Amino acid sequence: MKTRIVQIDENNIDGEAVRQAGEIIRSGGLVAFPTETVYGLGGDALNPASSRKIYAAKGRPSDNPLIVHIARWEALAAIVKKVPAEAVKLAETFWPGPLTMILEKSDLVPGETTGGLDTVAVRMPSHKTALAFIEAAGGYVAAPSANRSGRPSPTVAKYVRQDLDGRIEMILDGGDVELGLESTIVDLTEQVPTILRPGYITGQMLKSALGRVEEDVTILRSDSGQAPKAPGMKYRHYAPKGELTIISGSEQQVVDYINAQLDQWRDENKKTGVIATDATIGAYRADVCKNAGSRLDESAMARRLYRILREFDDEDVEIIYSESFEGAGVGQAVMNRLLKAAGHRVTELK
Ligand code: AMP
Ligand code: MG
Repeated sequence: MKTRIVQIDENNIDGEAVRQAGEIIRSGGLVAFPTETVYGLGGDALNPASSRKIYAAKGRPSDNPLIVHIARWEALAAIVKKVPAEAVKLAETFWPGPLTMILEKSDLVPGETTGGLDTVAVRMPSHKTALAFIEAAGGYVAAPSANRSGRPSPTVAKYVRQDLDGRIEMILDGGDVELGLESTIVDLTEQVPTILRPGYITGQMLKSALGRVEEDVTILRSDSGQAPKAPGMKYRHYAPKGELTIISGSEQQVVDYINAQLDQWRDENKKTGVIATDATIGAYRADVCKNAGSRLDESAMARRLYRILREFDDEDVEIIYSESFEGAGVGQAVMNRLLKAAGHRVTELK
């Protein structure tokens, strides 16, 4: 299959390109498109054959459900059993935007889209191209991130192409995304709303809107002995090809420890990389140093993380160390993704 790549400007949307992309979805094909979080791989959420194609194109296990993207609030009612008051509140506060809600699904949504679950994940993105495309596609676009399963999510179209060229009909290239991490997922089918995946909308923000919210214990830990409630969170994810280890401790301890490791790897002729910050970027003796930015700007770190992981692959880095990024807000989401990318390999310096 030849994949067509079409440039599209969010502020001057090419109506004909969007119409053609919508037509591909309506006839059962796949289109990758920009959202404010990461690029999505879209198919018709109400067509079981389309969802099967998404799993095949990504190489994704089919028990890992897809998020259904809508462009209008009125579209929600048809795909869920009921719209609880909490969903109304969250939509008023955070939609369109980087928040996904889990609700009980209606019969309209095929089991292929929800990985066999009775619940469905729904989000209304804020990206103007995404909204126009979803409308043109019939209003319900199932879209996981547009990467091959296990790889870092794409924040630019170049990386969508790297993973999916020849596997899908079209890529809408809208340039760099704004946020760089996938949506926050909150489950509204539990007694107390529960965060299954942290993101740009933080626990504190959800708590302000709802009064109460819990967190799935597996978000930052691998030793809880529990399976994550979002099926996808159990898989290794976001991983670069090189071996990534997170080092946590005081700044000086971390720099000294990583440099000692780097010296050993150099003796073995391995190509090394480090994820550093503004404060430490000059301190490492690695072949490739990437700057995640200032620790005070967690959003900028979020925006850079996946690109950095992909760039290590582009440069064939074999051994990677990262500083640790604890944080209360978006920093928690950054750490959640970094831990998955590292397969929870962390060295804590005492
Ligand atoms: P992605 O599409 O790559 O952003 O991944 C979607 C995430 O949403 C995965 O971690 C899924 O497991 C999760 N998800 C989607 N639908 C549901 C659902 N009905 N219940 C729980 N988690 C879900
Ligand atoms: Mg994904």
